[in-house]
Amino acid sequence: MSISRDCPICGTPSSNAKIFQKENIDESRISGFSYASRKEPEYMCHELVQCPACDLVYVSRPPAQEELASAYHVADYDSSEEAADAAQAYILAMDPVLKQIKRCDSVLEIGSGTGVLLDLLKARGFSELIGVEPSSAAISAAPDHRRGWLREGIFKEADFAPESFDLICCFMTMEHVQDPMATAQSAAKLLRPGGAFVTVTHDYRSFVNRAMGKRSPIIDIEHMQLFSQTSIRELMQRCGFGNISVKPFVNRYALSYWMRLAPMPSGLKRALKQATHAIGLDKTKIGLNVGNTLAAGYRLND
Ligand SMILES: [Zn+2]
Repeated sequence: MSISRDCPICGTPSSNAKIFQKENIDESRISGFSYASRKEPEYMCHELVQCPACDLVYVSRPPAQEELASAYHVADYDSSEEAADAAQAYILAMDPVLKQIKRCDSVLEIGSGTGVLLDLLKARGFSELIGVEPSSAAISAAPDHRRGWLREGIFKEADFAPESFDLICCFMTMEHVQDPMATAQSAAKLLRPGGAFVTVTHDYRSFVNRAMGKRSPIIDIEHMQLFSQTSIRELMQRCGFGNISVKPFVNRYALSYWMRLAPMPSGLKRALKQATHAIGLDKTKIGLNVGNTLAAGYRLND
């Protein structure tokens, strides 16, 4: 069952939006992996439209929230090395934010996976660490020392005390939530004054994503919206955050992972995989700007 929605950032009616990508869903190919992170791209998507006012690309007829929640709950999980690589890139990109927030005591991560980023934030001095993660597979894959930080389920503001965090991270997750404004507004309420809400989102306007078009891994059934630098800034502004910054950053992954994402025929992919493995190149880490963007906004003093 699907419900119709207008632009989830600015409310401009979806009837004013233009088609960005036509629906492409093959029910027979939907698997547990369709809702996993860092999977092989499937090039399936709901119909995506582009808001003429705030630049957001979004699904105007998303599946019901309960369907999404259960899809993520059962999503398989297979990406520990890539998750570690991603977290290293995030902590580097976040450095200016960590230096600017008022305190570094408590952090909430919305969509934490196995909590690998929380480990890195612990090393930066955070003592109260909480990750919310809907995938039970991700939580069971977490090492023992992180298990106590993780809460299984969909993020709900009511589960936390107002003004109780110095930092709230939502990385590669804003694309997946039903109501990105509600998530950001909740973050604003849960932050202490001087604290920061930080997101990592794909940028559909980045060079790589424009060049790949509908073969870009961001064109995906799990994405309920796609941001550009303009639209993520708009979201931060509308939620009352101050001192907003929006910057692309470099991701470093093994060559084998970049090849998995690349839009190539699977036969060619297999051949390249074997060739790079044979000469020991497949594990080489390569840094690329693929349009991932880190945005930060601060909760101003009331
Ligand atoms: Zn809009």
